[in-house]
Amino acid sequence: MDYFPIFLRLTGEPVLVVGGGEVAARKIASLQRAGAKVSVVAPELHDSLVRKVGTGEIVHLAAEFQPEHLHRKRLVIAATDKRAVNAWVAHQAESQNIPVNVVDDRELSRFIMPAIVDRSPVVVAVASSGDAPVLTRRLREKLEGFLPQRLGVLARLAGRLRPVVKRRIDDAGARRRFWERFFDGPLASDLLAGRVHEHDQELEQRIVETIGLTAAKGAAPGEVVLVGAGPGDPGLLTLRALRALQNADVILYDRLVSSEVLDLARRDAQKIYVGKTAGKAHVVQEGINELLVRLAREGKRVCRLKGGDPFIFGRGGEELEVLAAHGIRFEVVPGVTAAAGCAAYAGIPLTHREHAQMLTFVTGHCKGETDKVDWEMLARPGQTAVFYMGLGHLDHILGRLREHGLAVGHAAAVIEQGTQSSQRVITGTLGDLGQKVTEAGIQSPALLIVGEVARLHDTLHWFNAAGSDGKRFADRDGLWSLVGT
Ligand code: SAH
Repeated sequence: MDYFPIFLRLTGEPVLVVGGGEVAARKIASLQRAGAKVSVVAPELHDSLVRKVGTGEIVHLAAEFQPEHLHRKRLVIAATDKRAVNAWVAHQAESQNIPVNVVDDRELSRFIMPAIVDRSPVVVAVASSGDAPVLTRRLREKLEGFLPQRLGVLARLAGRLRPVVKRRIDDAGARRRFWERFFDGPLASDLLAGRVHEHDQELEQRIVETIGLTAAKGAAPGEVVLVGAGPGDPGLLTLRALRALQNADVILYDRLVSSEVLDLARRDAQKIYVGKTAGKAHVVQEGINELLVRLAREGKRVCRLKGGDPFIFGRGGEELEVLAAHGIRFEVVPGVTAAAGCAAYAGIPLTHREHAQMLTFVTGHCKGETDKVDWEMLARPGQTAVFYMGLGHLDHILGRLREHGLAVGHAAAVIEQGTQSSQRVITGTLGDLGQKVTEAGIQSPALLIVGEVARLHDTLHWFNAAGSDGKRFADRDGLWSLVGT
C-alpha cells in the first residue's frame, strides 16, 4: 500500500488553500462539504470564490503565500498554476508536519484525494495511488450506479439505533446477526426504496418490535449453509455462495476448495480444514457431522464449503440428513460441478448433437468389490461419461470400457486442476491415455472424460494457464468488464 487511507474529521477546522483559480474553487467546495473552515491565499480570486468571501463562507488573504499562513492549519492544498510556488508551499508544510496536497503533483504531495461516492454518512473512496485516475473514475461511476441513493438514510438510522440495540441485545454475536438481518431484511429494503421514511411512526414501531423479538429469543439459533465452491476459479462462485462466505461465523472446508475462494470469506470468520485423509474417510466424516451439529447449536452461522457441487459426489446429502435429524436449520447453495467447470475450461462440450446424446457422471471408485458400475451401458457409443475420482483406477476404467466393446481408438481426456491457473489437459484414446497420463505425472484432483467430444479440445480450447493467448484474453476480458468499457 503506497498510501494509508483514512477519513479525517474537518468540521470547524482551519484549512489553507493556496491559489484562487478554478481548480482551487473545486477543492474548496469539497472541503466545505466536510465542514472545514477554509482560508484561501491568492492575489486574485475566481468569481465563485469572490461570492463566497462576500457571504463570509471563506476567508480571503489577498497576498502571495507566506509560511505564516500555515499557522495552526490542519491541512494545506496548493492549487496555483506555478510549480515553484506549489513546491515552496509543500516544502514549508512538510517542515511543519502539516499534511499537504499539491493538485496533480503526487511527488510534492503528502496526501492525495480519492474519487468519492458520497452517501453520507457512508462515503466510499477510490484511489489508485495516482497511477490510473481514469480507472478510478470509472470505478466510482460503477459504484455510483450500484449503491442505492438512500443508503445514507439507512446508515443514519442504524447509527441512531446502535445504542438501543446494544442495550437490548447483550451478546456480541447475536448483535452482529441482528444487524446483518436488519440490513438484509424487509425494513431496510422498504427504507432504501423510499416506501417508508426515516421519521415515520410505523418505522419506529417495526424497529422496536424487531429488536424486542431478537432480544426475547436470546441468541439467534445457528444454521448451516451447505455451499458449493465450484472447481477452483473463484469467478465461478455464485452470488449466494459469496454471500454465505461473507456472513459465516465458521467455515468448514474441504481439500478441494481453492485458496482463492477462501480468500473471499469474511476476514474474522473462523476457518476449519476438514479435508479427508485417504483411508480415514469414515471416521473423519462422523467427526465433521458432530462438529456441524455442535457449532450450529452454539448459535453459529456455519458455512459448509465443498468443492464443486455439494450434491454431486460430495456427501452433502449425508451431512444434511444428520442436521435434519437434529432439527438444525440448513440451506443448500449449488456450485459448478467439476464436470461442467473442467469441460468448459478444456473446450470439451459434454453433449453434442453428433457425438453425445447422453451424459453420465460416474464415480471412479470402482475397483474390486466397489465395482457396481454398469459397464455395458457406459461402453455404448453416442454418449459421454465423466468419471470423478477416477485417476487412481484409470487403467482399470479404460480397460473395462474396452472389454465391454468400446473401440480402442475412442476418445478420452483427463483434466488436472481444472479451471485453475495450473490446469492441464491430456487427450488421447482408450488405448493410449493411461500411458500419457502417467508420463505427464498427472496428480489429483483430476477428472476423466470418456467420449468422442474429447476430440473437440483441439479446436475449442481457449483457456491456457501457461500464459498463452487464450489466458491473456480471459484476463483482459475481466478487466474491461470491471471498468465497464
Ligand atoms: N462435489 C465435487 C466432486 C467431489 S469428488 C464436484 O461437484 O465437483 C472429487 C473429484 O472431483 C476429484 O477426484 C476429481 O475427479 C473431481 N474434481 C473436483 N475438482 C476438480 C478440478 N478442479 N479439476 C479436476 N477434477 C476435479
